[in-house]
Amino acid sequence: MTWVEVDEDSGFGIENLPYGVFRRDGTAARVGIAIGDSVLDLAGLAGAGLVEDRGWFDSAALNRFMAAGRAAWRANRARVRDLLTDPGHREAVSPHLVPVTDVELLRPFEVADYVDFYSSEHHATNVGRIFRPQGEPLLPNWKHLPVGYHGRAGTVYASGTPIVRPCGQRKAAPSDAGPSYGPCLKLDIEAEVGFVAGVPSTPGRPVTPRAFRDHVFGFVLVNDWSARDIQAWEAQPLGPFLSKSFATSISPWVVPVEALEAARVAPPAQDPAPLHYLRTDEPWGLDLRLEILINGRPVSHPRFDGMYWTPPQQLAHATVNGASLRTGDLFASGTVSGPTREERGCLLELTWNGSEPLELPDGTKRTFLEDGDTVAIRATAPGANGTVIDLGEVSGTIRPAHC
Ligand code: MN
Repeated sequence: MTWVEVDEDSGFGIENLPYGVFRRDGTAARVGIAIGDSVLDLAGLAGAGLVEDRGWFDSAALNRFMAAGRAAWRANRARVRDLLTDPGHREAVSPHLVPVTDVELLRPFEVADYVDFYSSEHHATNVGRIFRPQGEPLLPNWKHLPVGYHGRAGTVYASGTPIVRPCGQRKAAPSDAGPSYGPCLKLDIEAEVGFVAGVPSTPGRPVTPRAFRDHVFGFVLVNDWSARDIQAWEAQPLGPFLSKSFATSISPWVVPVEALEAARVAPPAQDPAPLHYLRTDEPWGLDLRLEILINGRPVSHPRFDGMYWTPPQQLAHATVNGASLRTGDLFASGTVSGPTREERGCLLELTWNGSEPLELPDGTKRTFLEDGDTVAIRATAPGANGTVIDLGEVSGTIRPAHC
């Protein structure tokens, strides 16, 4: 138990302790940890000599601490737990607790490279049915490797950053004579879960699934904003380009891998058995429950435990060719969708490419996003000792296009 006042049902209790970067009243950004409704100022604690700090916490990004490695991560987590649970530390630590309502939460780390996967069988099957109604929904490679593409790191934004509707080439139907230029007419979301690498890897040496914990610092929520009309026209034959690169949003709190140990479950059975470099000797499904809200109203509840390819398999595949990891590399799961309509992770699926409009609780209908719409993605997971781990929220509001 912590001596900090934390609501019984808070998902930011002592078993979570996620890292973020915050700013207060124009002061310099610094690293903190969420506890209840407060942020524990790690730079302040370090200044008081209460935690070890090698230039990690007086920083506008988590990257230096993420690069310090697993031993440093574990030691700091253990120390913070001690500081927040032993009442003897209360007097020294209390001055470094700031109400979360008094701070601005920033993007938690500098993104090095950004990869986006496509690891939900339900999502990939739905998209296959929508775009290739005549063919097999899953292409032949899908159950042999985690399909992915390299995204654009420079446009990964903090939660809350406004999203300007992209402009580009659109093509309404296959029978159309040619494309037109203008604002995206099918602006969409993709509810995803991402992990960030802390410790680099050696060029030429693949990272095995077993080494996942040695390299990966933690998890965030990701909204992979997507322009479906631009995507459908440009992504032939290569993957997404301008339809995804305009913006990706991530949540402010990075939940340590250690905090999600209690959320690990068996993933779906994999048939055919994957090649040896993708095999894991422990279960790495994660029992995260996501919620998608449009203008504050829940529209879907995808579950992450049904993802076909797991995070360690994604990391192993992304490095099997010898491509090395850098601190800050972000890997997103791909849209998280379940078997039912209520578990679909994007509007493309929820409205079946606009053919089945979604009725919002206020009576308005959506096929795709309208200017002014705010989308939020939240998630929770089971934590140690019967607690709940809150991954927080990633949100963004659509602004009109400049074209
Ligand atoms: Mn995506």
